[in-house]
Formats: sequence, structure tokens, C-alpha cells
Amino acid sequence: MTDIADRLEELRAAGLYRRLRLVSGPQGPRVLLDGREVLLLCSNNYLGLADHPGVRRSAAEAAMRWGTGAGASRLICGNMTLHRRLEERLADFHGTDSALLFGSGYLANMGTIAALTRAGEVVFSDEYNHASIIDGCRLSRAETFVYHHRDTDHLAWGLRRAEGRGSLIATDGLFSMDGDVAPIAELVGLARRYDCRLLVDEAHAIGAIGPAGRGSVAEAGLEEEVDVIVGTLGKALGSYGAYVGASREITELLVNAARPFIFSTALPPSNVAAAMAALKLIVARPERADRLRRNADLLRRELAAAGMDPSGSRTHIVPLVVGDADSAVALCERALERGVFAQAIRPPTVPDGTSRLRLTVMATHREAELRHAANMIGTAARDLGLATEAAEWDWEEPVSRPESALDRAPAKAPPPPAEGAPSLASQMPPGPLSIDLDEAA
Ligand code: PMP
Repeated sequence: MTDIADRLEELRAAGLYRRLRLVSGPQGPRVLLDGREVLLLCSNNYLGLADHPGVRRSAAEAAMRWGTGAGASRLICGNMTLHRRLEERLADFHGTDSALLFGSGYLANMGTIAALTRAGEVVFSDEYNHASIIDGCRLSRAETFVYHHRDTDHLAWGLRRAEGRGSLIATDGLFSMDGDVAPIAELVGLARRYDCRLLVDEAHAIGAIGPAGRGSVAEAGLEEEVDVIVGTLGKALGSYGAYVGASREITELLVNAARPFIFSTALPPSNVAAAMAALKLIVARPERADRLRRNADLLRRELAAAGMDPSGSRTHIVPLVVGDADSAVALCERALERGVFAQAIRPPTVPDGTSRLRLTVMATHREAELRHAANMIGTAARDLGLATEAAEWDWEEPVSRPESALDRAPAKAPPPPAEGAPSLASQMPPGPLSIDLDEAA
């Protein structure tokens, strides 16, 4: 039997021990972290929709109307009208025949890869793919060929060696830890040439890149050519859950063969309604994605001016690779002392020797906040000998944010309403719902 204390000690000795930090209040540009206000630079709430009043209201209204839980898996009795409506809208968004919701992106990748591949076949996976794709390959009975990151020559070599047994190429669209984008056009070409399906995980691309925030496949103009899109609801869409966009035949197979779909409770109505409201906002308000892009450009420029090298990415995910795990943790702690929180990312999430701060920008960050963050990270890195000397510094303090109803949201759960108190619905901030929930009735 494994000695748990020994295992924990091993992790500590390797610089890989992790602990949970505590955020109070909603995910915004600034949060209370372990009781201290910090600038948040590592949330995937890219468009600020997880704390958007209309999205929150839709979630709350849906809970009041449809309850808090779906009660069962979709195939038992948990398939609710709201699920169907969101699937229709997601399919419209991506221009796919159909879409199918999953409990999370992790479950979507695991279930889909395992369901689409069989013993004797080969699945091809980029070496920097997300853990859920890796675990999907492990769950699959097919062999896995891991090709070098974005290296289509290596992939082509593997496809030739598979001699017709290739069945699926799986890739992140926008790589979660590096912020770079998969070579979609070349992957489509190889998939067609070698008669394989192509799965693109757009978890970090949805809402953020491509026309109308439709992701990396849309950015490449190849929506018709990709067999499976995996998207998550928990990042730019500000909710929780995930979906697969694909042909009707594929989603029909997933309903029958994807174990995480079959054996797991359906998403709760509030999450589905929040994602529906967020999707509507993404389509109606493309300026949020524009702002995200501008913020990411600004952060990169300011980091470079502060002696850091953010050149690996052109998107809202900006990795600052420092090397060993201890240095990444030290940089994270130093930046935190200066009021900026960007989590250190270490193996096994990233390869040995490439531990990093993974900075993520939000559309709701103010320019002054990003300038300040870059300065603070640059200073922290110079203190540790991890950055070059910065030239001229612009020591601008972050501007104070005018207090809004959202900022005043309680850090702790409010006490339960007293008997006879007004209902939750009547306590919602006023204003129209972001989605017409009647459409989903
Ligand atoms: N795919 C990628 C590329 C991811 O980065 C993540 C989560 N970080 C997932 C899938 C899993 O999504 P979820 O958080 O919804 O499980």
C-alpha cells in the first residue's frame, strides 16, 4: 500500500506540491484571494461573463423556474427542454448539424475520443494537448501516436506508419498553456488524405478568437471540414459544462457510446441558462472579444518593456516560461506580494523544465491594471534574476474602479431570507433577462 505521507513528501521535494487558494466573491479583474485584494491574471473568465449581471440573472431565473438539478442523466429522465435549446443554439453558432452537451470539457474529450476510436485503430494527439485529450486516448482502446507540438511533418510520418489504421487526429485549437494556435488547415489536409476524423478542442478559443468568437477552426475558414468541435461552457461562456459540435450521426453515436455522457447527471438548468445568455452576448457584442485582443496585445507589450519574453503567444493566454518548478512558484509568490495573481504552472501540466506563469487576460481588465501587472511581474522577476533590466518604467498605479452593484456583491454567502422576505427573483438587480427563458419552456 502506498504511504500517503511519503507521496506528499515526494511532491514537496520535487517542487510539485499544490495547495488550494481561496477566492471570495465572483471572478472579476480583482478578487479577494486568501483574504487579500489582488489583480486576477489567471482566470479563464475571458470575456467577464461569469460575473455579468444578465448572465447571473438568467442562471438565477432558471434555477427558480426549473429547479437546481437535472435529477438524472439525459438518457434516464434528465433531458430537459433547456438542454435541447442550448444544443440547437450551439449547433447554429458553429454551423454544425448538431451539438451535444457534456458535464465538462474533461468528460467531453474523454467520452468522445474513446467512443470514436476502436481497438486496432490509431489516434494521433499533439504532445501539448490538454490532459482530458490525453486521458481520452488512454481510455480509448486504440493505440496513441503523440506527435511533436504542431509538427505536421511528424504527424504525416505517423499517419504513413499507421498504414490505414489511423482513425482520429485530436488537437487543442488554442493550446491552453502556450496560447498558440494549431495548424488547422494542415491538419484538415492530413485528415482528408489519410481518411481520419479531426477533433479540435476549442475550449480556450470559443468567444475569444475567430469571426464572432467561433474559434480557431472558424478563424481558418474550415468549419465545414472539421468533424468534431469540443467547446467548454466554463471559460469564455462564464458557466460550467461543455459540448461537442458534430454531424447528427456522430452525436447519435455519442449518446449511445460516450460513457461520461451516459453515466453522468445532466447539467443543471442554471448552468445551461447562463451559457445560453453568454452565447447570446458573444454573438450580439463582438466588441468584448475585440477588447480581449487589445488587452492581450497591451499586456504583451508591457511585459516586454518590463524585461519579460511573452513572444510565444499572440492570444489572450500569455505564458512566461521560467524553467524549473521552484522558480515559477517563487515568481508567483513575489508577484502576489505585489498584488498580482498569476498561478505558477508546473509538471505534469507542462513538460519538465518549462514551468511558467500562465497569464490570462480578461476583456474586463482596465489598461492601467494590465500595465501595473506587467510592471509588478517584471519587478518580481528581476528580484529573482529571471528577467532582463527594463528600460523606462511607467509606474502607473491601477485606477480605482467605480463601485458597482457587482463590486458590492457579498464575499460570503448571504444569510437565508427571513420568513416572509421577498423571493430571490424579486431581489435580482432590475433589468431585462439576457435570454427569453420562455423560448425554452
Ligand atoms: N480542454 C482544454 C484545452 C482545457 O484547457 C480544459 C480545462 N482547462 C478542458 C478541456 C476541460 O474543460 P472543463 O474545465 O470544462 O472540464
